[in-house]
Amino acid sequence: MRKQTLLKGIPAAPGFAIGKAFILGSQELEVDKRSINESQIPKEITRFEEALIKTRSEILDIQKKISKEMGVRHAQIFNAHLLVLEDRTLIEGVISRLKKEKLCVEYVFLQVLKKYIKTFSCIDDPYLRERLSDIEDVGKRILRNLCGIHREILNNLKEKLIIVAYDISPSDTASMRKEKVMGFITDIGGKTSHTAIMAKALEIPAVVGLEEATAKIRTGTTIIVDGTRGEVIVNPDRVTLHKYKQQSAKLLRQEQSLVKLRGLAAATKDGHKIELAANIELPEELPSVIAHGAKGIGLYRTEYFYMNRSDLPSEDEHFEAYKKVSQEVKPHPVVIRTLDLGGDKFLSQLDMPQEMNPYLGWRAIRFCLAKPEIFKVQLRAILRASAYGELKLMYPMISGIEELRQANQMLDEVKQELRRRKIRFDEDIDVGAMIEIPSAALTCDILAKEVDFFSIGTNDLIQYSIAVDRVNEKIAYLYEPAHPAVLRLVKNIIDSGHKEKIWVGMCGEMASEPAFALLLLGLGLDEFSVSPAAVPIIKRVIRSVTLRQAQDVACKAMRLTTGKDVEKFSKVKLKELVG
Ligand code: PEP
Ligand code: MG
Repeated sequence: MRKQTLLKGIPAAPGFAIGKAFILGSQELEVDKRSINESQIPKEITRFEEALIKTRSEILDIQKKISKEMGVRHAQIFNAHLLVLEDRTLIEGVISRLKKEKLCVEYVFLQVLKKYIKTFSCIDDPYLRERLSDIEDVGKRILRNLCGIHREILNNLKEKLIIVAYDISPSDTASMRKEKVMGFITDIGGKTSHTAIMAKALEIPAVVGLEEATAKIRTGTTIIVDGTRGEVIVNPDRVTLHKYKQQSAKLLRQEQSLVKLRGLAAATKDGHKIELAANIELPEELPSVIAHGAKGIGLYRTEYFYMNRSDLPSEDEHFEAYKKVSQEVKPHPVVIRTLDLGGDKFLSQLDMPQEMNPYLGWRAIRFCLAKPEIFKVQLRAILRASAYGELKLMYPMISGIEELRQANQMLDEVKQELRRRKIRFDEDIDVGAMIEIPSAALTCDILAKEVDFFSIGTNDLIQYSIAVDRVNEKIAYLYEPAHPAVLRLVKNIIDSGHKEKIWVGMCGEMASEPAFALLLLGLGLDEFSVSPAAVPIIKRVIRSVTLRQAQDVACKAMRLTTGKDVEKFSKVKLKELVG
């Protein structure tokens, strides 16, 4: 019997999963054979070089961690892996076959790798034969970095498993299905990475940022994923298994009791009404939105609509999707956020350049303003769908008034065109801005004059105001929603919005945390848009207090000097007032 081991990471999606681990990247290698033309050769070579660089940095990362925890001797095993990456025969073999055969690089690489493995397995020398597993291991990593191989595997799982991976992209997570994936854990990533957000949306328990899960867990090992605490127990003993099974049953009972709140209003004890909506990424989440009693969609992240496909969605495809969502949610509103690409979300079909600082780069509204031919397709579809329900439109990553005006100018052009073509749309459609960049948060008195609402995107606002990458597990301790700087910005946004008589909502993950929700209620937030599963608990917070009590909590919290103090204080108050 193996020893029970506890791994600590970052909680990404709540709940428990108990089952067998499946290490992504350790399975049979297969890729499609795709022809390329002469002009694509340099690009394929660049892709190969980038995959080699990425693989190298992954291995160095693992090596560093192993060295720290288990000693230099153990870490040296990975030197052999690094050597494979520098093997000229392998690299040159790939490049010359690529040029000669004009086939995609992943296919060529796999053929060269297989030949290499075959040669090694025939050698009599035991030392060289041992290198075989290094070559296989590194080869799979390179291949995984070359293509979205995860998705295929995730779609074809034969039994329910817990996925263990170095990293999983948001688009891979989007293609996971609950009936196949019980939970997942990753070596890297942060609480508000889009991978974590997707896991929450799909209600799949997940822990990210475990650093060495792929090095410490083998396929077939029994593990427990505690997505609430951010822990993973490898080889649990009988007592631990029993404890978690009981906790799992208790959680289910709690959830069932919260669902009873479904038909009740989201209003404070003294009758102050709050809009309590849900965030969605895919229309398939609608049943969950309705089951959890959300009144509308406060954030529809439309970029997932562009993912896991090789072309761009047509105007009609956009239109049908938005129309369906708005009709199902009617009479409640749906806030459609226009395309927010970049950061940790990429589309292969758009061929966006690699950037040094993707979160600060050519993304979201910046990309859309530079690509009117793509942006206007979406704007037209949103406007057309607005004739069928209560749609609102919202721009992501607005950094100042000029960007807002430019976006509105394009929207006006599209409106003109629709009028000319006598196509119906809601002439009074509300247009809002996400406030998620400090420059917007500090100039929202100016922005408030030219929009109908604000929605605060704390996931990005925190990363930009504290300068802390939201997907980097090494600095996750700095990612503090209750940091006084963040609270001051949030307060400024709410107050500025109210001065101009517009409503202010929040669709960042901060709104889903019960203790912070209490504080935000006190700061005057009008709308909370949270993951569907978080709707009942946030409703319970709202219904348990008077507005005055919440204001009192907010007022005291604003005087505290550290994020940790604010968090501690809010949690104490939550316990006292909500239970
Ligand atoms: C945010 O930044 O808070 C937000 C809601 O948008 P996203 O998480 O998609 O960046
Ligand atoms: Mg954002």
